[in-house]
Amino acid sequence: MTKEEKSVFDRPIVTEIEDIFHNTAKLHEAFSSDRSIKALSTVHEDMVKICNKVVEVMNFSALEGARTTPTQQEYFRLGKSKLDGINKKSNHQIDEEQPLSLALDVAPYPIDFEDKSKARARFYMLAGHFFQVAHDLYEAGEISHKLRWGGDWDGDKIFDDQSFDDLPHFELTKA
Ligand SMILES: [Zn+2]
Repeated sequence: MTKEEKSVFDRPIVTEIEDIFHNTAKLHEAFSSDRSIKALSTVHEDMVKICNKVVEVMNFSALEGARTTPTQQEYFRLGKSKLDGINKKSNHQIDEEQPLSLALDVAPYPIDFEDKSKARARFYMLAGHFFQVAHDLYEAGEISHKLRWGGDWDGDKIFDDQSFDDLPHFELTKA
């Protein structure tokens, strides 16, 4: 187990977000926790559409969506992110031009951040559902973005060609 592979399990499960811009996304009733609803209320509607479909086949929690620049800077200081928030911005960051987050962190429910292969495997399984659903919605013209995942940044479906895994992280990219 390398340090990089462990990094995803070191993060706090609950992350407070500031009272920021909220959209009025309609959420699948399976998202019952306040934390998930709060996180999903801060992300782009394409991500909400994907999540509403995925949760029908595999339950998961939405951990964190939008992040202000000071929060991103704090994560950088704490070593939780490699992006400093100024020179290198995170897709979680929002501002007046981009009031909704393009990125969302999720975890299979029940959440198990233990450092063991079968716990980690659930993140890969969840990612498979995310990509299938995103593909179907994109082909149907219901969303206009494609997905990028922290377990496979370059999208080549090879997982051991990267040094920084961020398994909970999904972000919308321009197609
Ligand atoms: Zn993230």
